[in-house]
Amino acid sequence: MALIVHKYGGTSMGSTERIRNVAKRVAKWARAGHQMVVVPSAMSGETNRLLALAKELAPAKTTDSYSRELDMLAATGEQASSALLAIALQAQGLESVSYAGWQVPIRTNSAYTKARIESIEDTKVRADLEAGRVVIVTGFQGLDELGNITTLGRGGSDTSAVAVAAAMKADECLIYTDVDGVYTTDPRVVPEARRLQTVSFEEMLEMASMGSKVLQIRSVEFAGKYKVKLRVLSSFTPWDIDINEEAASGTLITFEEDEHMEQAIVSGIAFSRDEAKISVLGVPDKPGIAYQILGAVADANIEVDVIIQNMSKDGRTDFSFTVNRGDYAKTIDLLNDTVLPKLGALEVAGDAKICKVSIVGIGMRSHVGVASKMFRVLSEEGINIQMISTSEIKTSVVIDEKYMELAVRSLHKAFELEQAPA
Ligand code: ASP
Ligand code: MG
Repeated sequence: MALIVHKYGGTSMGSTERIRNVAKRVAKWARAGHQMVVVPSAMSGETNRLLALAKELAPAKTTDSYSRELDMLAATGEQASSALLAIALQAQGLESVSYAGWQVPIRTNSAYTKARIESIEDTKVRADLEAGRVVIVTGFQGLDELGNITTLGRGGSDTSAVAVAAAMKADECLIYTDVDGVYTTDPRVVPEARRLQTVSFEEMLEMASMGSKVLQIRSVEFAGKYKVKLRVLSSFTPWDIDINEEAASGTLITFEEDEHMEQAIVSGIAFSRDEAKISVLGVPDKPGIAYQILGAVADANIEVDVIIQNMSKDGRTDFSFTVNRGDYAKTIDLLNDTVLPKLGALEVAGDAKICKVSIVGIGMRSHVGVASKMFRVLSEEGINIQMISTSEIKTSVVIDEKYMELAVRSLHKAFELEQAPA
């Protein structure tokens, strides 16, 4: 008997028929003798629908009071799907109970719409499991110190599931989704993309941070920190397939570079269109400028990624960085209104039509020339690189978004990702 957490995405919960299917699958696992905690997303489209209603009534504001109500609103999506799943399980003859985040409780900080989980109280859930119930815990939401409902950011149900698995020391956390695993790249861009049997936790972290939508990045961070055994698999296999076959399908996120790991130098190509570039031009080059610019941006809760500071000329330098495209206008305004006058910089400029493409692989640690091969491939395609950043296991470039698909396809081919490594 094991303690297993299942997470079902919005598509898997998309209709009553699909919810019934999920219930049958969960029932199969419970009847095999496992203690089951299930974390569902809202039915597909529901979170968007709810947030669009808010927009109809008032344009998006960044005030806390507005964000608080967005969380009140969006959290209902998961509450509904969780209750429906508990009902469907009961109809399958299983005892089941659903809890909203605040009932568990899953405690978070107060950063509405992007709250972070701080702790999970597992007493209630454990008691239910001991009593033989399947426990459904809403994804995506929690409770802050002051008793407000919070949500964890889009795609946050993955993080809920992994956090619950970590808190309960579950044997495994299975993320059921509409794809059957983690691919070398998005098969919609490269049809030859290949499913990985295993991917290391560090590679997964890089891929998730780069816009691979398979797992929310926070969930991978959690899995790494608490060593949660994590598997991504399809919820569209027939619910009654052999449980052992199911348990071995999809992609396993591994922690060790053991002999089961595929030995590729580059494991995947990640990309994100959701990027924008911002430059502060003519900044007087003196100590503290990076802090003044990026400190102000961080205080506004805006995440910064690639950062470049140019060599200075005549005592002035240019400072560029990327942010999520959704934060583009806000960042430009912030810099113009507060940072520019204080710094005595000349101008803020930006470009929201860029994208980021990365090659990712733990094999890059022990091989030289991988990045230069990437640059060669891009140059052969005539693609101009605007920014570069590297880590031990990743090289990223910022390029014009119109070349994104060409870049991804050429790199996938050049690194022979369509073939399993020998
Ligand atoms: N329902 C939320 C969303 O659409 C959370 C999730 O699905 O993971 O972002
Ligand atoms: Mg998701």
